[in-house]
Order: sequence, then C-alpha cells, then structure tokens
Amino acid sequence: MPAPDAPIVHCEGVGRRFRTQSSDVAALHDVSLDVRRGTMVAIAGPSGSGKTTLLSIIGCLDRPTSGSVLINGSGVSDLSRRRRRTLRRDSISVLLPQPSDNLIHRLDGLGNLRAASRGGVVDRNAALSMLAEFDIADCADKRVLDMSGGEQQRLALACALARRPTLIAADEPTSSLDRANARRVVDAFARAVALGATVVVATHDAELVEAATSVVRLSYGVVEDPDHAPTIVDGS
Ligand code: ADP
Ligand code: MG
Repeated sequence: MPAPDAPIVHCEGVGRRFRTQSSDVAALHDVSLDVRRGTMVAIAGPSGSGKTTLLSIIGCLDRPTSGSVLINGSGVSDLSRRRRRTLRRDSISVLLPQPSDNLIHRLDGLGNLRAASRGGVVDRNAALSMLAEFDIADCADKRVLDMSGGEQQRLALACALARRPTLIAADEPTSSLDRANARRVVDAFARAVALGATVVVATHDAELVEAATSVVRLSYGVVEDPDHAPTIVDGS
C-alpha cells in the first residue's frame, strides 16, 4: 500500500517519441510531475504542446518511450496493453477528446450510464437524476449517434463519474460545450474531487484552469518552469 500522502500520479523524466518511416516527433521531453490525491490538475498549453500525449500516458492508454510513471505507487510504464486495460476498468476513467469515442453507440443514454456504472446504477429514477445533473435527462432513451456533440460530451462525463474512479483523465472535456454546460463540468469535477477522486484535465478552457488546484503548462513537450517564466523587459 502506498503512503496515504504519496502522489496518485508520479511521472519522472517522461519522454514520448513517435517514430514512423518518414518522421520522428519527440512529443514529450523529460516531464516530471506529481499529482496529489484529491486534487484537480489542469494541463495547459498551446495546440501541439503534448497535452493529449501526456494525458494518454497518465490515463494508461499509452506508455512513455523513456522515464517512468507510477499510478497509486505502482509502476505502469512497462505494463502490457491488457494490464493497462484492467487498471483503467478498475480505477481510471479516461475521457477522450472526441465525445462519441467514449460511448457505446448501440446503447441509449441510460444504457451507457448503466454499463459504465457496472451494476451501480440500476434504478431508472436514479439514472435519470444523474443525467438531469448534466441537463441530458431527455437523452435517456436516445441512441448515442442521435445526440448532439455537446450531449455526447455530457453523457460521457456522467458515465466517467458513474464508474466512481480513483483517477479521471479528461482531454478537453468542455470543447463542445457552451458556457453554462462547461460550468456543469467544472462543478462535476469539483464534486468528484470532494468525494476523493483526483482529476487531471487537459484543457484550453480558462474557467477549468481557474478551478484547478494547480496547473502544469506545457510548451513543445516540456513543462514550463513557473520559477523561470519569461521576463518582460521594460524597454523604456
Ligand atoms: P496537444 O494535445 O497539446 O495538441 P499532442 O499531444 O496531441 O498535443 O501532440 C504533441 C505532438 O506530438 C504534436 O507534434 C503531434 O503532431 C505529435 N503526435 C501526437 N500523437 C502522434 C502520433 N500518434 N504519431 C505521430 N505524432 C504524434
Ligand atoms: Mg490534444
């Protein structure tokens, strides 16, 4: 058992290269960070800075090509695809940037919520009230592909929370939402954190960044050091 104050995510010297016949992209270089339990950490940075790559590694979808990652005190950098899938099933909810990729298309809203909760949400009224928290009660009987992108995004979030994960790794979860619905996402993450979950969220959304306990800023695959931010020289 890890010490109770041990970080839930520990990345040390993490690098990720994508090599193909025609290219070799170093998406992350030497990224070291800790995420404390029961916090919300935002990963910010311009497009192409490595947010999705880092989040995929933290969410155990992908593995680093160098360095190491511990989740809940256990090394995950060398785990097989199958072991990582088991780890995700048991304790990590990953929210992919394309909302429909998070959902089972042949099921309706209720079916998705029930499947995600693995028996935790059986009662129709309980499920409807969970959907109503995201203003998507009318998606209960709708198939995924009949929902709008924003509805799919909110359903994906409701499903991610219904699994009661230890760790939520969410990639741009407010990208298809208007302000009012983006605020629901911020509130939902705050409630999940209050219940003991940890949230790592890649985002451009200023409101999500503002709500985070801390922010990791990436630039060209490197964590910007807040102590060495560029100095603005007054030329007058
Ligand atoms: P962000 O999410 O911040 O926009 P990404 O993590 O998606 O950034 O991408 C970081 C860099 O890695 C980009 O240069 C991107 O083109 C490259 N990259 C990401 N995934 C792959 C991949 N599967 N194959 C090749 N290059 C990739
Ligand atoms: Mg991205």
